[in-house]
Order: sequence, then C-alpha cells, then structure tokens
Amino acid sequence: MSAEFAERLLPLLPELVASYQTPFHIYDARGIVATHEAMARAFGAAGHRQYFAVKALPNPNVLALLRAAGSGFDCSSAVELRLALAVGAQPGDIVFTSNNTALPEYRAALAAGALITFDDRSFAKKVDELPETVAFRISPTGLADGCALMGSAAHSKFGVPAHELAGAYAEARARGARRFGIHGMTLANELDTGRAARAAAEVIRLGARVAEAVGIELAYVNVGGGLGIPYREDDKPIDFIAYAEEILAAREEHFGPGGPRILTEIGRYVTGPHGVLVTRVINRCRKGHEIAGLDASMSALMRPALYGAYHHISLPFAGGRPAGRFDVVGALCENLDKFAIDRELPEPRDGDIVLIHDTGAHGHAMGFTYNGRLRPAELMLTDGGDVVEIRRAETYDDYMATVRWGA
Ligand SMILES: *Cc1c(COP(=O)(O)O)cnc(C)c1O
Repeated sequence: MSAEFAERLLPLLPELVASYQTPFHIYDARGIVATHEAMARAFGAAGHRQYFAVKALPNPNVLALLRAAGSGFDCSSAVELRLALAVGAQPGDIVFTSNNTALPEYRAALAAGALITFDDRSFAKKVDELPETVAFRISPTGLADGCALMGSAAHSKFGVPAHELAGAYAEARARGARRFGIHGMTLANELDTGRAARAAAEVIRLGARVAEAVGIELAYVNVGGGLGIPYREDDKPIDFIAYAEEILAAREEHFGPGGPRILTEIGRYVTGPHGVLVTRVINRCRKGHEIAGLDASMSALMRPALYGAYHHISLPFAGGRPAGRFDVVGALCENLDKFAIDRELPEPRDGDIVLIHDTGAHGHAMGFTYNGRLRPAELMLTDGGDVVEIRRAETYDDYMATVRWGA
C-alpha cells in the first residue's frame, strides 16, 4: 500500500466501516492515475504507449480513469473487450493478447480494431481474415529467463518458439498482412529492475533479428507486463525510469534512431499498491496455534491460497498491543482459506479493523463464489477525497441470477 494512500485512507476508516459493511476493497484513484502518468513520462514522447492489463482490475470506473489519463487497454477475452469499449476505447486503444483463443473472441477483437497478438502459428492460419497488422508472441523458450508464475519455459503454453517466428511472419505476409508487431513477456511479478529490462531488451533484439531475416519492418514491439510490486515491507520497488531508459536504449541499439513503437501492457504495477481489502476480526481462537478469523475469505482475494502469495496485513487501531504470531483465516470450508500463516501481528481482538494490503491488482478480479461466499464491494477514494462505491457486494439474488428452475 502506498504511503500516500495510507495517509489519506486511515483517517477515513472509522467512518467508512460505519457506513459500509466489511469486507470491501478500496482503491486510490489519485495513486492509480499518478502511477500511469509517471510511467508515460518515463518513456517520454518517444513512441510508447501503455495498455492497462484489464484483468488486473476490471472495474469500469477504474478503466475510465485510466482512459482519461491516456492509457489504452490490454484485453484477452470478449468480456474484457466489451469493458474497454464500454469506457469509450477507440480502434487503436486496445491490444488483444490472448492464448488458446476462441474464434468468436478473435472476431470481436478484429471488430474492435484491436492490435492483435497471435499466440500461435496454427491459429493465425485458421482465421479466415487476418488483421492489417499482425504480431506474434515469442515463446519464453526463445528467451533467456523463465519465472515461477509463468511456468517453466520448456512447458510454457504461451507463444511461438523463436525458431518458428520467421516462418510465421512469412506466412502472414503471404496472406496479406501489411504491418507487423512482435510481443514477448516472460516475467511475472518481477521486482528486479535489471532483469525486467533485460527481458524486454531481449524481445527487442529478437524482434530486430526476425524482421531482418524475413524482410519486414516492425511497427511495434510489445514488451508485455509482469513488473512486480513491493508486497513485502522490505521489497524494493521497480525503478521505472531506469526500466524505460534501458528499453529505449535497446531499441536504439537494435533499430537505430526512430525504430518501432514500444508497447507495454502492464497491470499489477499500475493498480496493485493502490488497493486494500478492509475487513474485521470476527473470531479470535486458539487451536494449538493462535487464529484470527476475518469476515473476508478467499472469495475476496485468492492470491495467498492460490500461489502462497504474501500480502502485508496491518491492524491500524491495534497500536501498543503485544505482538504474537497468528494464522489469519477466512470462513471457507477449505483449509487453504488463509490470508497469512504464523504472521507476527499486534494481538487481534474481535471487532478489530484489519487491512490486507496491495489488493489493487488480481484481487477482487480473481474472486469466486465457492461455498456461497460472495464477492465483496469495491469502493474508490476519489482524487477529491470522497469515497464512492463502484461495485456493490454480491447478494443471493446475484448468485441465483443464472439459475434456471427446470428439473
Ligand atoms: C497478465 C498479463 C499482463 C499483465 O501482467 P501484470 O503482471 O499484471 O503486469 C500483460 N500481458 C499479458 C499477455 C498477460 O497475460
């Protein structure tokens, strides 16, 4: 959670939890826009555009804020395309980077005027109409580094192997493609600025090599997303200015002055630190170890259960209490439903407000409704300091809305 967000949110919390039922996520509009603007500034006017990865925080209110700040959108499904269009995205404002794509979704992307990345050579052959601009995604097997969240390179499900790229572009050209891009993303939640920049530079280098081999000109290089955020208090944030500088230097090195546009499709880094899950302790108990049961469960935040991901937890009004070690748990009938295991915290008591930090990306969006645990509300702290509800909590009626009685 950014320090600025904490400073503006904490004084509002007592009133907020009195007017809105916990749990809820709350996002910081000012922090989200400021982060986008700083990213755009780091690249300068030098032929770059950032497309927010919609999957990270698909609330249309957030998308509208980002659009107003000049962001495009990275979509990978038909619904994400509709969300981008719903906030006014125009042709050219969307990149469509999917994998294992269904034809109707591809056609929706084509109709939306998106820049389309083909994940797969055979899919590009299958479609009846190619877009004017064709890009292929490089498989991580063709690049230097792998990463745990992306799976091992040898078993990656993403992209075209490097040695098949030239053939893929030649086929696309033979079928009428007139402009070309290339896409590569091999990192997820990467906190090492140098490593992230080197991975992007490698995509640029490979792009230059393939373009030369095939005799095409690249209109853009999309270096994907995958930048990490400091989930742990002692994590160091990415130096985005250095990241952008190294990418621009790699472009100059491999393409000379000018060169293709650089596209980024970053999600987590834009919104992750600008969201928190506000929840309360409802059951303190001891079962051999100390447990704090919350009124939120993994329906609100899957990452700890899904990846063992660390989210910092704070009790803003428990200062001065003795510290201990606690498991922080939800109410699902699943032993995985824990936000933290053996975490040092000031002793929680029933009714305490608990903040689970950095839920602005892949938080609410990943929620689910197993066990009848419904997804919570989303609020936004506006630039002017007001709090607005931008998605209400789900209800029984929502849960039943897709049911047809008929048996
Ligand atoms: C998930 C994803 C992104 C965004 O990743 P972040 O880690 O949120 O920056 C971008 N592009 C593709 C293809 C993705 O799958």
